[in-house]
Amino acid sequence: MSPKKLDGQKLIQFLNQKWGNEKCPLCGHGNWNVDTNIVTLINATDGVIQVGGNYLPLVPVTCMNCGNTILVNAVVSNAFVDTGNSEGGNGNQSESK
Ligand SMILES: [Zn+2]
Repeated sequence: MSPKKLDGQKLIQFLNQKWGNEKCPLCGHGNWNVDTNIVTLINATDGVIQVGGNYLPLVPVTCMNCGNTILVNAVVSNAFVDTGNSEGGNGNQSESK
């Protein structure tokens, strides 16, 4: 499996499509900032912090008026793309006709 990275443009397109001009539910403003860096929540079941394993790849979307931050699951956005550096290029550029 090749490594994936988040395509910020695809993510923003996804949010525009799904959210439209949705306003912040707390303050009513609509000035959002999308952070295209993945963050995650740490599972601390029974007070023990789990390191590694499965995690939720979340993208913070922050209201620039009040700071309300919504976490969007980046997998649902389908905005991951191959980094393309797992096999040193595919060399498949045939264009003969
Ligand atoms: Zn707000």
